[in-house]
Amino acid sequence: MRRLGILTSGGDAPGMNAAIRAAARHALGLGLEVSAVRRGYAGLLAGDIVPLARAAVANIIQRGGTILGTSRCEAFRTPAGRAQAADRLREARIDGLIVIGGDGTLRGATLLAEEHDIPLAAVPGTIDNDIHGTDTTIGFDTAVNTALEAIDRIRDTAASLERVFLVEVMGRESGDIALAVGVAGGAEDVLVPDVPTDLLTLGRELRQSAERGKRSSIVVVAEGGEPGHAFRVADDLRELSQLEARVCVLGHIQRGGIPTARDRILGSLLGTAAVDILLDGGGMMAAERGGAVARTPLRDTWEHRSSMANPLLALVRDLA
Ligand code: ADP
Repeated sequence: MRRLGILTSGGDAPGMNAAIRAAARHALGLGLEVSAVRRGYAGLLAGDIVPLARAAVANIIQRGGTILGTSRCEAFRTPAGRAQAADRLREARIDGLIVIGGDGTLRGATLLAEEHDIPLAAVPGTIDNDIHGTDTTIGFDTAVNTALEAIDRIRDTAASLERVFLVEVMGRESGDIALAVGVAGGAEDVLVPDVPTDLLTLGRELRQSAERGKRSSIVVVAEGGEPGHAFRVADDLRELSQLEARVCVLGHIQRGGIPTARDRILGSLLGTAAVDILLDGGGMMAAERGGAVARTPLRDTWEHRSSMANPLLALVRDLA
């Protein structure tokens, strides 16, 4: 292993820059050369590959997003696209690749590694926390804290106006952001994709809470891969229970922003671990389990699903 490449792909996540910095600095410190692949798989296919010097990763640990840029790339989903990617890596004399991204990125990375025998190490970078084999993903903690701050603000208005608010958070098919925010924000309930919610009962409970004198209620709604889902929930609550709820969709503000200390530390640990994985031959994702750095085989990261779902849901309902 003489030269390694680093790329970020899919949805950006705060803390990716910490992982890029750590991987680059650890590798350079070991005497390896480092190349940056810009704009994710789209940049890889286009051969957008440049040397990454020590100084290029200075002053980035505190920045959200990714300095390498990212993309969604349809061509990479095809075997021909991945063959082109392998050619570009060979042309750039890259002996091993570190890929930082979410579950789609890891699927693509697994196929690239398997089809073309390329040493590959992955780092879980997504706010959704929907990757198997790691307790948390880089970006999740920042997204939760951003959403929580928004909820605290919404609660001021909700309490003043004596209103029910449905607050929609991101997470694609994962309810993890919603559950974490629900517990930490003292929500009345959390609607997650995996667990069917009886809206008639929810409407009745929200009414009873109001009658008991509760001035505000916040219900956190996971988008469930369907942005705007909270508006449909509001329509259903109006129809079933004659309950008027305001909707606030937090959307992309949850993606950006200054990474929390936890995401910077996680990015630093996993970026460093990814280089060591490559030196051992690749085929693994750098992970964190039980507070320790661990490794998960690439395929396992997306063939299985993991979620923090039910214990936190029960907690929200118990404490509401
Ligand atoms: P994320 O990595 O954040 O989950 P996406 O799901 O958009 O984001 O995936 C990022 C990129 O990974 C896609 O644009 C595509 O190039 C590649 N990718 C996603 N799914 C697959 C797949 N099943 N096979 C090959 N490549 C994939």
